Amino acid sequence: MKLTRKSNVAPVADKPALGISRRQFMKHAGIATGGIAAASLMGTGMMRRAEAADVPYDAPIEIKRTICSACAVGCGLYAEVQNGVWTGQEPAFDHPFNAGGHCAKGAALREHGHGEKRLKYPMKLVDGKWKKISWDQAINEVGDKMLEIRKESGPDSVYFMGSAKFSNEGCYSYRKLAAMWGTNNVDHSARICHSTTVAGVANTWGYGAQTNSFNDIQNANAIFFIGANPAEAHPVSMQHILIAKEKNNAKIIVVDPRYTRTAAHSDLHCAIRPGTDIPFIYGMLWHIFENGWEDKTFIEQRTYAMDEIRAEAKKFPPKEVADVCGVSEDVIYQAAKLMAENRPGTVVWCMGGTQHHVGNANTRAYCLLQLALGNMGVSGGGTNIFRGHDNVQGATDLGLLFDNLPGYYGLTSAAWQHWTNVWELDMEWVKGRFDHGTYLGREPMTTPGIPCSRWHDGVLLEKDKLAQKDNIRLAFFWGQSVNTETRQAEVRDALDKMDTVVVVDPFPTMAGVMHRRKNGVYLLPACTQFEASGAISNSGRSIQWREQVVQPLFESKNDIEIMYLLAKKVGIADQWAKRWEIKDGKPVTEDISREINRGMWTIGYTGQSPERIKQHTMNWGTFSNKTLEAEGGPCKGETYGLPWPCWGTPEQKHPGTQILYNTHKHVKDGGGNFRARYGVEHNGQNILAEGSFSKGCELEDGFPEFTDKMLKQLGWWDELTAEEKASAEGKNWKTDLSGGIVRVAVKHGCIPFGNAKARCIVWTFPDQFPVHREPLYTSRRDLIAKYPTYADMQVHRLPTLYKSIQDKVITDNLDKKYPLVLTSGRLVEYEGGGEESRSNPWLAELQQEMFVEIHPADAADRGLRDGEMVWLEGAEGGRIKVMAMVTPRVPKGITWMPYHFAGVMHGESLEPNYPEGTVPYVLGESCNTALTYGYDPVTQMQETKASLCQIEKA
Ligand code: SF4
Repeated sequence: MKLTRKSNVAPVADKPALGISRRQFMKHAGIATGGIAAASLMGTGMMRRAEAADVPYDAPIEIKRTICSACAVGCGLYAEVQNGVWTGQEPAFDHPFNAGGHCAKGAALREHGHGEKRLKYPMKLVDGKWKKISWDQAINEVGDKMLEIRKESGPDSVYFMGSAKFSNEGCYSYRKLAAMWGTNNVDHSARICHSTTVAGVANTWGYGAQTNSFNDIQNANAIFFIGANPAEAHPVSMQHILIAKEKNNAKIIVVDPRYTRTAAHSDLHCAIRPGTDIPFIYGMLWHIFENGWEDKTFIEQRTYAMDEIRAEAKKFPPKEVADVCGVSEDVIYQAAKLMAENRPGTVVWCMGGTQHHVGNANTRAYCLLQLALGNMGVSGGGTNIFRGHDNVQGATDLGLLFDNLPGYYGLTSAAWQHWTNVWELDMEWVKGRFDHGTYLGREPMTTPGIPCSRWHDGVLLEKDKLAQKDNIRLAFFWGQSVNTETRQAEVRDALDKMDTVVVVDPFPTMAGVMHRRKNGVYLLPACTQFEASGAISNSGRSIQWREQVVQPLFESKNDIEIMYLLAKKVGIADQWAKRWEIKDGKPVTEDISREINRGMWTIGYTGQSPERIKQHTMNWGTFSNKTLEAEGGPCKGETYGLPWPCWGTPEQKHPGTQILYNTHKHVKDGGGNFRARYGVEHNGQNILAEGSFSKGCELEDGFPEFTDKMLKQLGWWDELTAEEKASAEGKNWKTDLSGGIVRVAVKHGCIPFGNAKARCIVWTFPDQFPVHREPLYTSRRDLIAKYPTYADMQVHRLPTLYKSIQDKVITDNLDKKYPLVLTSGRLVEYEGGGEESRSNPWLAELQQEMFVEIHPADAADRGLRDGEMVWLEGAEGGRIKVMAMVTPRVPKGITWMPYHFAGVMHGESLEPNYPEGTVPYVLGESCNTALTYGYDPVTQMQETKASLCQIEKA
C-alpha cells in the first residue's frame, strides 16, 4: 500500500464541506482498500493479515499481549507475530478494561509499530542538510557537548524533556539520569495536561490521582463531566459510562462550552463561557447549601473548613453565576439538583478544566463539590480524572517532573536522602553533581527546575532573571513534541538560539523541524513501546505489563539503552545503573522495576513486583469487567493491575486499592481514608478525621502519619523483626526501606499515611480556596475589577506575568481587536502533538485538515462559508491559516481548534525541513501558534482554554 501526503495548504474552494470525503482522499492517495471504515469504537479484528511480503501466510503465529499506546484507558490487545514480523492484531475480548473494544487509534496500532514514516537511523543537521550518522558518533558528539556546557554554564543548562510514552522503568531511569547529571530541569507533558490536578487534588485529600476506576463508573447514578469529552478523548471509557446510563439510568451532565460528542449523550448540557468553572461550581454549591442537600455527617467527620466554602458560595447566587458564566439560572439549578438527587455521583474532568491560569483552583473546586455531596470514598462516586497519554500517570508517579523525585517525595534534603539511600549512593556525591550557590535566593538542588511549558523562557529570558546560573543551552526532546506548547513563535526562537537540539523519538517531531537552524540538531531514533517491554500505569492507577512484540525496527534503540549509552559517555553510568544487571548492552528492565518497588513507599508502589504485574497481564480473562477483581485463578481476590497503594512488599500480597479513601473496606483489602499530610492542626483546630475510620481500624478516630515513635507509643514496636527495627529506627512509613512500619500499621487496620480530614482550604497556595479570576485575555473587561488576576510574581526559577498582561488587554483594546474567545481540545483520530498519529495512514485518512470551529452567526458576520480557508490571529499576533468549520456546536462568540496539528507555521509548510521519508501524511497549523501567555501559579500549567482571537477570510 502506498500513501502520499496530501498538501494541507492547497486551495480548497471546491470542497462542499469540511475536509474531503474519505472516497476523495483514497483517490488522491491511491489507496485501494476499504478496511479502515471499520476502525470505530468497539470494532473487531479489522487489521489481521496486514502486508508483510516476506512472511509466508501460514508461518506459525506467536501471540503477544500488549497495551494500546494512544491513551490512558489502557486497552489490551493481542499482537500476532510471524517470523518476527507483527502481522496482525486483535482487541482483547477478555481484557478487564476494554472487553474487546477499541477506538480508531487502538485499531491502527500495528501500523504505528511498522511506521514507514519513522526515523530509521541517527541523523545530524549539517549545513542545512540531514546526514546519516552512526550511534557512536551521535552519542559521542551529544555527550561532548553536554560536558562542554556543564563546564561553562553548569548542569542546569542542559534540559531533559521526558515523555509520558516511556514505560514506568523508562520514566524512573530518565528522572534518575537527570538527578545523576545534577539538575531538576526535567519534566514531561503532565505539566501541560494534569499538573494542576496533581497539585490541587493532592493538597485536598492526599493523592493527586483518579480516585476510582473506569469500570467503577458503571456504579454511578450521576456522571458530571466538566472540561472532559471522553467520547473523543477516551472512547472506550464510554463503555462504562453507557453501562451506567443503561443500568442505573445514570444522569449525565456535561459542562463544556461546546456541544461535544459526549454532550450528545447528556441529560443536561451547560455551555459555560471558557474560564468560568469556579463560579459555576460555586453556583451549584449555592443551591446545595441553600437547599440543605449537603452531606452533613460527611462534612463534619471528614472535611476541614467547609464553612469557608459555604461563605464563598454565598457570593455566587444564580443571577451572578448566570451573568459570569453565560448560562441560564435554571441550568445551574438543574445541575445541582441532578447531582444531589442521584448519589453516588462521580465527577470527571480533563484538560478543559486543568489548562487554565487558575487550573489548580479549578480542580479544587471540583473536589469541593464532591466533598459537599459526600461522594468521596464510595463506589460510583469519586473524582475520575481521565489522564491523556498511555503512561502519563506512571510518568507523574515516577517523578518525571521539575518539582519532584519519584513517588512525590518533593525536592527537600530529606527527599534526596531517601532516594540516595534507595540508590545506595553517597549523598555527598549526588550533591556534588549539582550547581552550588543561590540564584535569586534559591539553591538549585532543592529548587524546582524550569517547567516543560516554559523551557523556551529558560532559553530566551535574560539570565539575571532566572534563578539558575545560566540559560538552557542544550535540550533533549525525548518523546515530547513541542507543538503542544503555547507561544510557538517563542518556541521556535528558543530552538534557534540553543547550542544544540537533541530529539530522541521514533519520529523527527517538531523540535527537529520547526527551527531555522543549519547545524546543531540531532535526531536519535527511539523504538516504539511495542519494541520494548515494561510496565505502564493507566489512569485508574492500575499497572500493566507490555510484552515486547517485535525487536526494535531499523536502527532504533530502546529508550533505556539510549540513556545507558549517554550515561556511560558522560561518566555517570556506574552510579545510575549501580543496582541493575547490564545484559545485551542495557539494564535489565525488571531490575529497574524492583528498584522502583524499593523506594516508592509514599504511594504504595511497593507491592507490585514485575512478577505480580506480569501474572495479571497473563490472566486478563480472570478479572471481572464490572468489579476489576479476579474471581478465580492465580490472582483470585486481587484488583486488576494492583492499583496503588498496594501496601507492603510483594510477598505480603496486598490486592491493590481500586477506590481511594474508602472507609467501607479494611486497609488490607484496599480500604482507607483521607491522608494526614499537613500536620494535625491548623489555626488551633483539629484537622484529623473525627469518628471516621476504615473498617477494622484499631485506632477508631483520626491519627497522624506513622513513624517509629508512633509505633513505640502504641506499643507495637516489638512486632517488628530485629532487621526491620534496625531499618525503621528514626524513620517514618515513607522512608523505612524495610517496610516494617507499613506492615505493622496495616496489620492493625491502620493506613500508614494517617487519617485526616480533606482540606477545603489550602493555606500554602496563592488562593486558599478557589477564587474566580478572569482569564488574562478576557472577553469580559467589565468583570476584571471584581475578579482580577494575580499580581506578577516569581515562580520558582522564572518571572511570571499576570496583571501586566490583563492590563495590556485593556490599554491596547485587545478584547476589541480580538473579539472571539479561543479554546482548544482533542479529536478522536489523533493524540498529543500528533506526529505519531498523523504519520499513521489508517488515522491520517480519517482527519486530514486542521480547522477552526466557528458559529454560523460569527461566520456570517465575517462573510465566511464552511470549508473556506481563513486566517486566525491570536491576541499576541500569532497568525495561522486553517479551514473554517461553520457549526452551531460552538456558541456564538466562541471558537475551538484541535491541538494535534503541526508542520505548517504562519501559513508556510515546513515540509522541506523534514528528513526524507519522514513527512507525516497530514500537516497543519498548530493551534498553539495562536495561543497566548498564561500560567498557573502553583504548577506553571499553560492556558490553552481561554484566550482571544480574530478570524478573517484567507
Ligand atoms: Fe483504548 Fe484509548 Fe487506545 Fe482508544 S486510544 S483503544 S480508548 S487505550
